[in-house]
Amino acid sequence: MRIVLLGCPGAGKGSLASLILEKHHIPYLSTGAYFRKEVADNTDLGKEIKHYMESGLLVPDSVTMRVASKMLEAPENENYLLDGFPRTVNQAMMLDELTTKLGRPLQVILNLYVKDDEVVYRRLTGRQICSKCGAIYHTRNHPSKVEGVCDVCGANLVIRKDDQLESVKIRLNEYYRLTEPMVDYYKMKGNLIELDAELDSEVLLEEVNSLLEKYK
Ligand code: ADP
Ligand code: ZN
Repeated sequence: MRIVLLGCPGAGKGSLASLILEKHHIPYLSTGAYFRKEVADNTDLGKEIKHYMESGLLVPDSVTMRVASKMLEAPENENYLLDGFPRTVNQAMMLDELTTKLGRPLQVILNLYVKDDEVVYRRLTGRQICSKCGAIYHTRNHPSKVEGVCDVCGANLVIRKDDQLESVKIRLNEYYRLTEPMVDYYKMKGNLIELDAELDSEVLLEEVNSLLEKYK
């Protein structure tokens, strides 16, 4: 099964992805997670992209395609859940070309859409992450028991640089400028499945699971 998960920042791609993976044991391919690790490890690639990531800008297509191609060409990744890629029309077209060449065409393209910008701001501006174990909290939707302290390991909670208000604005702007046209591209091709990101996660998951039944 080859699934692509699309959605604006704050739509909840990450949480839906982990729910899907509980049931379907396929590789999880996330360019965002890959990039974040490169930055944390301070590799050459990490140094090259740090500025983009922290300010909320998209990493240039040339860099992203190099990373994504490597993931998609790996023999063990014949099936996957792709999260955070593609994000531009250009990436989507290259993805089509690559998956065709590999004989592994995309099967399910899910788009988590949010009607209201306010919802996105609310979700993104309360997010906190544990500085040690990476657990994720939210000041309003999922607060830690003790303010600023991780329930799991007791370390401090921090706000990711790209979750700070200025970066959130830039991320959304990047989304509307570069990613939304790509969603239209998939719509035009006629193989996009729309999911309302404001639905309860259990309801969403049920909807997704019944869709995926067909591809098992
Ligand atoms: P979000 O939390 O917004 O869903 P991700 O974790 O998917 O973000 O990605 C974090 C950052 O990594 C993005 O803001 C961007 O800088 C970079 N990035 C991830 N995937 C891509 C991509 N396909 N194209 C360009 N940049 C990307
Ligand atoms: Zn922790």
